[in-house]
Amino acid sequence: MLLPSTKSMPDLIGNTPLLHLKQVSELTGCNILGKAEFLNPGGSVKDRTALGIIRDAEKKGTLKPGGTIVEGTAGNTGIGLTLIANALGYKSVVVMPHSQSREKIELLDLYGADLRLVNATNYNDPNHYIHTARRLAEELNESEPHGAIWARQFDNTANCAIHESSTGQEIWEQTGGNIDGFICAVGTGGTLAGVSRALKSHKPDITIGIADPMGSSLYNYFTNGELRGEGRSIAEGIGISLVTDNLRLAAVDEAFAINDKDALPYIFDMLRNEGLCLGGSSAINIAGAVQLAKKLGPGHTIVTILCDYGDRYKSKLFNPVFLENMGLPAPDWMRN
Ligand code: PMP
Repeated sequence: MLLPSTKSMPDLIGNTPLLHLKQVSELTGCNILGKAEFLNPGGSVKDRTALGIIRDAEKKGTLKPGGTIVEGTAGNTGIGLTLIANALGYKSVVVMPHSQSREKIELLDLYGADLRLVNATNYNDPNHYIHTARRLAEELNESEPHGAIWARQFDNTANCAIHESSTGQEIWEQTGGNIDGFICAVGTGGTLAGVSRALKSHKPDITIGIADPMGSSLYNYFTNGELRGEGRSIAEGIGISLVTDNLRLAAVDEAFAINDKDALPYIFDMLRNEGLCLGGSSAINIAGAVQLAKKLGPGHTIVTILCDYGDRYKSKLFNPVFLENMGLPAPDWMRN
């Protein structure tokens, strides 16, 4: 018999703590807080998106018992979808570019995803991972006995909706409404859109910022309307050159272009001085929070997202040879 307080895996998603980020708070004179999304059972903020999309598809009747979920992903959404699929009796097919970290690919394999690695190409290429996932979902919907859906995280606004009702609402409650700014980077835009909508509904004059890595087009888009980017970033899961249906729902007041050179030292310091091993998108987010703090001035409270663990980028972010090849500085302790 199930006890009333017994939980299953999907119940572990969300309700993550809000952490005080000591060094950057001291540096800016602001109260900078990070939502500990790496604590989700799949290790990232994207567990929420995966659950939101699955629950929405179940409600609409498009995802049938025993059905297959197909998605194109930088990895984390695939990890969330696969673990939830395992828990709820679905199958998952994950299309992912080779360029993503070896650790994420190994995790997906371990968790039992039907993994399809493709070349990292431009969005206009018909073999781009997003287009490949759409085609595969159409084919599998015909051939699989219980059908297949394409999760479509970029344009499926169940993604924004789950962040509005969970992530954004949690941040509002955890800060007791004592919050002046929120900032994060964009992959699909689901987090930024959902959180900004929840917070603006409670406090219309809150400042919402986007932290955009180099190589992404959104800093220019929000600054002068041009979808154009230059340079590159090693942060995975963020940075795009298109305006998704989720991003269209975001309310953005400030945009900041963030360099890896400036951002990565924040996560190296977080590991060595605050005991948290975070991924590259968290570095971009923390650097963005510092920029927003400088803009708002001391005494303000700013929240950002700590998206995933750094362990899943050990071979890149925490590898001095890789960093050197990318022209990025590695701290002394990493080289010894
Ligand atoms: N950080 C990481 C590590 C991610 O995998 C993603 C999603 N691809 C994001 C940030 C961005 O989140 P969103 O898709 O909600 O914009």
